[in-house]
Amino acid sequence: MTKSVTLRRPDDWHLHLRDGAMLAAVAAYSGHFGRAIIMPNLVPPVLTGAQAASYRDRILAALPENVTLRPLMTLYLTETTEAADLVQAHRDGIISAVKLYPAGATTNSASGVRDFAKVRPVLEAMAEAGIPLCMHGEVTDPAVDIFDREAVFIDRVLDPIRRAVPALRVVMEHITTQDGVDYVSANDNIGATITTHHLVINRNHILVGGIRPHYYCLPVAKRETHRLALRKAATSGDPRFFLGTDSAPHPDRAKESACGCAGCFTAPNTMSILAQVFEDDVALDKLEGFASLHGPAFYRMPVNDDTIRLVKRDTPAAYPTHITAGDETVTVFDPGFPLYWHVEDQA
Ligand SMILES: [Zn+2]
Repeated sequence: MTKSVTLRRPDDWHLHLRDGAMLAAVAAYSGHFGRAIIMPNLVPPVLTGAQAASYRDRILAALPENVTLRPLMTLYLTETTEAADLVQAHRDGIISAVKLYPAGATTNSASGVRDFAKVRPVLEAMAEAGIPLCMHGEVTDPAVDIFDREAVFIDRVLDPIRRAVPALRVVMEHITTQDGVDYVSANDNIGATITTHHLVINRNHILVGGIRPHYYCLPVAKRETHRLALRKAATSGDPRFFLGTDSAPHPDRAKESACGCAGCFTAPNTMSILAQVFEDDVALDKLEGFASLHGPAFYRMPVNDDTIRLVKRDTPAAYPTHITAGDETVTVFDPGFPLYWHVEDQA
């Protein structure tokens, strides 16, 4: 018998679309989603309301006509961000959130925040205006082991900021640890995104039997106990946890290099992977909450009106292993299992 699930159209609460030829190549692959929070770490980063508006226009121009994805824009918080510009951009409906990168934490994060005291007035203005802060939750102190950077971030940065500005609504992005799950579960005014790939891979996938650059991402995947904690959180039905794919396309030549960059490109096959993950955990009934309901609730937006249908068939869905972006190829995330769940769009 054919198994199927119908969901409110899901949203992606953390997405990298890049710019130029890469944007043109990848944007349509997020077309199953109703909305996506678009990350601002371009070169140069998206710093002002005007820059966010023009980036939004470039994204809309890159989307094929039959794709209804609505980009929700963000600003890149720096130590010189002006609170007035940010609040105005939110009031004008240009931005939906602000992104905080600790300086040097990940791709194009050099302009990020070093001294958190300097951004406190902006955070207070955001709290008052109800603008969520999305945080890349890793410290960048070279003395801290890369596998501990999320846990240390909670103690050194996240918890102090939340105590200093308790009304600020915070999203701890792409959590990868039991520590992240525990912190978010125990607090209010906080949500967490979980990526597709962190539900599937642990650090062995990156390192055993040779280095697998296409499984390298930041935050780096942790040991198996942490992956299982993420699976439990995602399938728990707790509204604090929702989908943010962090789909992050990079040219293969930049990933397959002596110094390969971080990021997994999961946009094309995310919903098929998630259906399998939730089925494996006997939690298919929790998939709609995770992918379609909890995110809008946190962001105080309505859920999407339309639906998508996921159908389990005898033959795997055909996703490309690579896509082309200008002169480059980009590898699509390989979950390591066949994807029998097909997405049937019902726009
Ligand atoms: Zn990201």
